[in-house]
Amino acid sequence: MNAVVETKRAASPLALVREDLRDFGGYRSARSDRLQGDVWLNANESPWPNLADGDGALRRYPDPQPQALRDALAALYDCAPEQLLAGRGSDEGIDLLVRAVCRPGGDAIVVSTPTFGMYAVSARLHGTRVIDVPLREGDGEWRCDFEAIGDAALAQDARIVFLCSPGNPTGALLPIGEIAALADRLEGRALVVVDEAYIEFADAPSATRLIAANRNVAVLRTLSKAHALAAARIGTVIADSELIEVLRRCQAPYPLPSACTDEALRALSRDAAAQTRARIDTVRAERDALALRLSSLSGVRRVYASRANFVLVRFADAQSAFDRLLGAGLVVRDMRAAPGLGDALRISLGTPEQNAAVVSILEARA
Ligand SMILES: *Cc1c(COP(=O)(O)O)cnc(C)c1O
Repeated sequence: MNAVVETKRAASPLALVREDLRDFGGYRSARSDRLQGDVWLNANESPWPNLADGDGALRRYPDPQPQALRDALAALYDCAPEQLLAGRGSDEGIDLLVRAVCRPGGDAIVVSTPTFGMYAVSARLHGTRVIDVPLREGDGEWRCDFEAIGDAALAQDARIVFLCSPGNPTGALLPIGEIAALADRLEGRALVVVDEAYIEFADAPSATRLIAANRNVAVLRTLSKAHALAAARIGTVIADSELIEVLRRCQAPYPLPSACTDEALRALSRDAAAQTRARIDTVRAERDALALRLSSLSGVRRVYASRANFVLVRFADAQSAFDRLLGAGLVVRDMRAAPGLGDALRISLGTPEQNAAVVSILEARA
């Protein structure tokens, strides 16, 4: 008999789901029963299309997770369709994760500020405590203190750690080996969520490759940024299929408007995807050129190396920089209310012409 090599199988992430939701079936919609028929009289829909809806495309409730979209997203993100859940932006993914894993009015999540604000917003709405283990700044770089995050999560029994890579607003990519080590350390204790809203601009491997060995890793992806589809609101959670199944049952019955699904499929077609890739290349080249030019300006204190489609910049006089840009019609993100960023603005990459305008306004002395 051949020896069977047993690879260590990580614990099911179901153990991390709220105990009271483990056998929760969610809402049973008219689409839940996979019935076959010609005349559908089971969902109280109108038998006639609206006058404004010429081809009647909007008359029926949409498929909760259209197979064509799941297949397209699975191909895009290099995972199995069972490992993903599409929803209304990654914002919905964040909310679903918090609600499925943390007890209402209890438990805790860990974030590392400065970071994306929605993790704390979702936690707060759920009555869940937010533990902050701030990023550290040294040698002009932002570093995530994985050791301290693990310590805090274990000591305070946090259920989710939210990591953002590349970070918003820092632009810093987190080392994937450190993410894996943190997930190892928190196995059976907490979920490690890696928000990769900007990973397309980083030319780096996705943390989805960790999921096979680290079943407590979930990854957030979105079509809102690199794919230029923010208004379609299509975000994806990629995780162990058992966890995805739980999230699906917690999600609203018909989360994806059919018009948005159609747009997303068109946006992922071969030609559109090729153009998206070319534009990502342009943004990356523009980003590095913009960072270089800004860092040579006298009013600029620091430009952080970014792996995303924005740069975080500290100014000697951020108010003046903000006002001068605004005076020229250029709106950038004022970061000064964020802890430790009292002199910083976040500038999204625009077209080459728009980026040149930013530089020329900032280099003209006030
Ligand atoms: C923009 C952004 C999102 C939101 O993405 P949607 O898919 O549009 O909801 C999520 N995470 C980060 C870090 C972002 O900057």
